[in-house]
Amino acid sequence: MITAVYPGSFDPITNGHLDIIHRASALFDKLIVGIYDRPDKHMLFSLEERVALAKGATASLRNVHIKSYSGLTVDFIRKEGGKIMIRGLRMNSDFEAEFEMASMNKKLAPDIELVCLMASCEYQCLSAKLIKEVAKLEGSLKGLVPKHVAIALKKKLSQGYLEAPTEEASHRNKISL
Ligand code: ADP
Repeated sequence: MITAVYPGSFDPITNGHLDIIHRASALFDKLIVGIYDRPDKHMLFSLEERVALAKGATASLRNVHIKSYSGLTVDFIRKEGGKIMIRGLRMNSDFEAEFEMASMNKKLAPDIELVCLMASCEYQCLSAKLIKEVAKLEGSLKGLVPKHVAIALKKKLSQGYLEAPTEEASHRNKISL
């Protein structure tokens, strides 16, 4: 049985993430979506909320499990009995950061293999960060996030929660291991 782990911050889960989840779950026996609790980075949703939103989006996928973790991603993958790390690659924006992260992870855990799935054309320009911008400006999120995520975003933003990541924090987002 091959277990793969798809780690990320998922703040919140988008249709781009879900596309990767659907495709990876068809390739492996078990897919664990690892939601990273990043205490050093400002998140719009709490860890519990991000987990709940991801669970709501993947309930119909029997071999997909949503879990949270802290610490090194490779340690989490090992703890879950995983052999494969899944990442999604969008054109231009992701390659360098993923390459850097993959090189370090290979040093830390040579037994874990990275599998990158190319983002589907319709989701190439979709990021959780952009989704939050659109939601803040009250644009339509149709086709970009599941309905319950759009509702949660609307509710959160109406409560006055605004994400204001520093440049340093968004850089950290790209290189966290
Ligand atoms: P984001 O980059 O949207 O903030 P995460 O940090 O949660 O998302 O990323 C988790 C993984 O999902 C990363 O490998 C990232 O490249 C990938 N990913 C994010 N958005 C997409 C998308 N639209 N299509 C494919 N993969 C994506």
